[in-house]
Amino acid sequence: MLKKYDWGTQDGLRAWAQGVTEKPQAELWYGDHPSGDSSVLEALGGPANPSTLNELTHGQAPLLLKLISCARALSIQVHPNEAIAKEGLTSFKTDAGEPVLVDSSGKDEMLLALSQFDLLAGFVDTGTGAQILRDFGGAFDAAADAYQAGDVPEAIRKIMQKSALQMRRLTPLLPAQIAFDLGKEVIVSDDSALVVAALMQRVRLYPGEAIHVPPGTVHAYIGGTGVELMTTSDNVLRIGLTSKPRALEAALSVMRLYPVQEVPPVVSEGVKVFSPQAAPFELRDIAATEPSSFELPGASYQVVLALDGPCEVVTAHGRLVCEVGQAAVVSQVGDLAPRPIVVLTSARAVAASSKQVAN
Ligand SMILES: [Zn+2]
Repeated sequence: MLKKYDWGTQDGLRAWAQGVTEKPQAELWYGDHPSGDSSVLEALGGPANPSTLNELTHGQAPLLLKLISCARALSIQVHPNEAIAKEGLTSFKTDAGEPVLVDSSGKDEMLLALSQFDLLAGFVDTGTGAQILRDFGGAFDAAADAYQAGDVPEAIRKIMQKSALQMRRLTPLLPAQIAFDLGKEVIVSDDSALVVAALMQRVRLYPGEAIHVPPGTVHAYIGGTGVELMTTSDNVLRIGLTSKPRALEAALSVMRLYPVQEVPPVVSEGVKVFSPQAAPFELRDIAATEPSSFELPGASYQVVLALDGPCEVVTAHGRLVCEVGQAAVVSQVGDLAPRPIVVLTSARAVAASSKQVAN
């Protein structure tokens, strides 16, 4: 399912999606979420002729894999964990009082950069942040005091109280780097969330690098193309830099001050494995320059996506060929001992696998 959100890169996903559309191409989803259920071309070992993945998984697919390409900054956002999503499904509201959670699942995510990818994740230390706020000539001194005391949610709350009219005077005082990062289009919006952005840590991923964004991490993608792996959920609590509904208090109530978690890969059998601690998933980056065979350990749910050449996925049920931009889902839910799968390719593919998390 291709999503054409306005922050997408013009034809940014053309290699994997519908070719040139001369429109922004933001996200391509591989999963069974009702907001973007994937169509099925061929199925082995299940009911005959399913049209979508959801018909096969009945909404139980634990993982959602996406290709994402952003040309300009996405909202500053945070995701709830599983427990919070379950209990907050009906009580969490947007600033306008509307329900904000769309499913009862937590959203844990990881991003693997395919191009240089810039993002904001987490917050700078108390001293640095307080100084950034004091440099606004007194306008944010109360927020600076809260930030200095380690109460980042309260600092954000105070920042977000500034109106667009007040911000018009303050926007020119923003640190130049944030103005540069986020671009003119956002800067002229006089959104007080720009000041929140100035307090966030800037992260630059180079191709092949990955970051883990656990639930509770405040983040904003700025620009780049990558593979995003997450638990199946579309629960987003937005603080700002968006025309979509905001849910400031809900966002502040779930945010946590985690350090930024870049995920160093472990190389195993020629495959780069990204396995963030405490995440219910891992991602393998498989790159071959000649016809090669890679055996991947079994998992209850796996998605293999062909990135820049076809690949063949061999399972206990048979073999499936994926052309570029197509994915094979291998679901062994209920299997007591998930069986390994084999990926045959002479190009690059990624494989997402569910993982048991020790409590
Ligand atoms: Zn996110």
